[in-house]
Amino acid sequence: MTIVDAIAEPLPRAVIDLAALRRNVAHLTALISPAETMLAVKADAYGHGLLPIAEAGLEAGATSLAVLEVPAGLVLRRAGITVPLLAWLHGEDTDWRAAIEADIELGISAVWQLEAIAAAAADRPAVVHLKVDTGLSRNGATREQWPHLIDAALELQRQGVVRIRAAWSHLADASIADDEAALAEFRSAVAEAEERGARFEILHLAASSAGIRMPEARFDLVRFGIAAYGFSPFDDCTGAELGLEPVMRLEAPVVEIHVGGTTRARLGIGFGDGVPVLGIAKTSVLLGGRRCPVVTVDVDTMTVDAGSARVAVGDTAILFGSGHDGTVTAEKYADWAETIADEMVTGVALRVPRIYEN
Ligand SMILES: *Cc1c(COP(=O)(O)O)cnc(C)c1O
Repeated sequence: MTIVDAIAEPLPRAVIDLAALRRNVAHLTALISPAETMLAVKADAYGHGLLPIAEAGLEAGATSLAVLEVPAGLVLRRAGITVPLLAWLHGEDTDWRAAIEADIELGISAVWQLEAIAAAAADRPAVVHLKVDTGLSRNGATREQWPHLIDAALELQRQGVVRIRAAWSHLADASIADDEAALAEFRSAVAEAEERGARFEILHLAASSAGIRMPEARFDLVRFGIAAYGFSPFDDCTGAELGLEPVMRLEAPVVEIHVGGTTRARLGIGFGDGVPVLGIAKTSVLLGGRRCPVVTVDVDTMTVDAGSARVAVGDTAILFGSGHDGTVTAEKYADWAETIADEMVTGVALRVPRIYEN
């Protein structure tokens, strides 16, 4: 019997620079001090990997984590993360009791959610952050519903079923004028709740955009997402201009070379891995020390024009990275593909291994 070595299938990889994440979090946390950083790790930490990002963010100064849904919070608890966690997207399947008993704080937008908490009969009060809609119309009590939500929460607090910890909202980031109007709306909703007898330990409103540009919106904490991953929340400036560094570098191996008048390299990554198909005419990758224009993107491969570059099967192409040494940032790649950096990094498929660098 002959034993033949298996030939490893060359895979694309997303290399995650945890030191860059730590520097971003430290930088943002210093900027907003004495407000604190709640690091948003929803959507598998914007595609970077939930647990490693949570751990690195906490090392760098974040004091709490925003997880979107309860199951992600349970994953963090099982991994030994003990800091406050906030989950605010709930549905019929939400395991309220597991959330409460794992000390996951719950963003609450509607009375039915409070009723579900009461019905869960957990062994301790649920810690709730009451969410008011200040104009975004996304998952928050309207100003009409708000007094009812407050009264219901106060009643359950009297019964020992909940502990009201926070009032909060989310800004649309559409324009400064909109955000200022939303800020005024938030203050007025908080005042209304206080008149009804609610006392909040903390208030929070800002995500990356207002956290950076609107100091009066920082309150007790800022829920930083995209900025922590190195990208600007603004159209008019880049992450680099804000002192931020991209955390993810997306690489793919050359799997085939066609030599004709010009060299065409096929890379082992495609739209099934999250590479955008839009804007191909503008996109290029770094390969063999030069920018190579993209020719086609298929489901699991893409072809680039390597010109007269000397490239070989097994070489590595970089789609996006730090923005230094010839790489472009995901912000730049996103411009070409008519999308945003958030989508570029979050869209990298789960089958692409994440490789962590310290
Ligand atoms: C996604 C999200 C954030 C983080 O937003 P960025 O703009 O990425 O900083 C903060 N708060 C809530 C409620 C979110 O859904």
